[in-house]
Amino acid sequence: MSVTEQLNQIRSTLPSGITLVAVSKFHPVEMLSEAYAAGQRIFGESREQELKVKHEALPKDIEWHFIGHLQSNKVRAIVPYVHCIQSVDSVHLLEEIERQAARYDRHIDLLLEVHVAQEESKSGFTPAELLALLSEQRPDERWTHCRFRGLMGMATNTDDEAQVRREFRSLRTLFDQARPLCPTFDTLSMGMSDDYPIAIEEGCTMVRVGSSIFGPRQY
Ligand SMILES: *Cc1c(COP(=O)(O)O)cnc(C)c1O
Repeated sequence: MSVTEQLNQIRSTLPSGITLVAVSKFHPVEMLSEAYAAGQRIFGESREQELKVKHEALPKDIEWHFIGHLQSNKVRAIVPYVHCIQSVDSVHLLEEIERQAARYDRHIDLLLEVHVAQEESKSGFTPAELLALLSEQRPDERWTHCRFRGLMGMATNTDDEAQVRREFRSLRTLFDQARPLCPTFDTLSMGMSDDYPIAIEEGCTMVRVGSSIFGPRQY
C-alpha cells in the first residue's frame, strides 16, 4: 500500500480527538511530501540534523515534533523551528530549552517523558520524580517559554499485551494525578505502530505512528 493509503487506513481507525503524529525518522523527504499531500501536518523526528534538512525541504506549516533522546547541546539547533519536544527527560534539559527558547523569543510545546517500561534503555522521569517536579512549583511559572502540554511514554517492547496495557494504564493514571498540578496539561502521547490501539483504549490523546505509515525504516 502507498503512504496515502496507509495513512487513510490508520486515520479511519482513530476516534475523534486523537492526534496522529506521523513518525518520519529515517524516511526520505519524498515520503513525507506524499503524507503532506494527503493532509498530514504533524511529523515526528528523532535526530536534530535530519529534522533540519526536512524542515528546510518541506512546507512551513508543518508542526515538527522531536521524539528522540535530546542532548542539551543539540537544543539550540532545533529551537528555531521545532513545535513540540516530546522527549523532555531531565530538569537539566528543561533549563536549556528555556534558555534557548528565550533567546529566540519562542514558546515551545513540551511533553515530559515518563519511564514506565520494564526496559533500562528507555529514558524519562519516574512517576515519583515527575510528581515531585510538578509539586515544587507550577512549571509554566518557572519556565515561562515552555508550554507544558502533558506526558509522553512508551510501553515495553513485548508481545505480552497485558503488560503493555498495564503500563499505558499507569501512564494515564499518572496523567490524571499530574493535571491538577499543571493546568496546561491536555496531551497524553502514548502508542506506536504495534500498540496504539491499546493506548487509545487506555486513554491517550496522541499516538506516534511510524512504520505502519511509511514501512520499515532503512537505517
Ligand atoms: C520511532 C518512534 C516511534 C514510532 O515507532 P513505530 O513502531 O515505527 O510506529 C514512536 N515513538 C518514539 C518515541 C519513537 O522513537
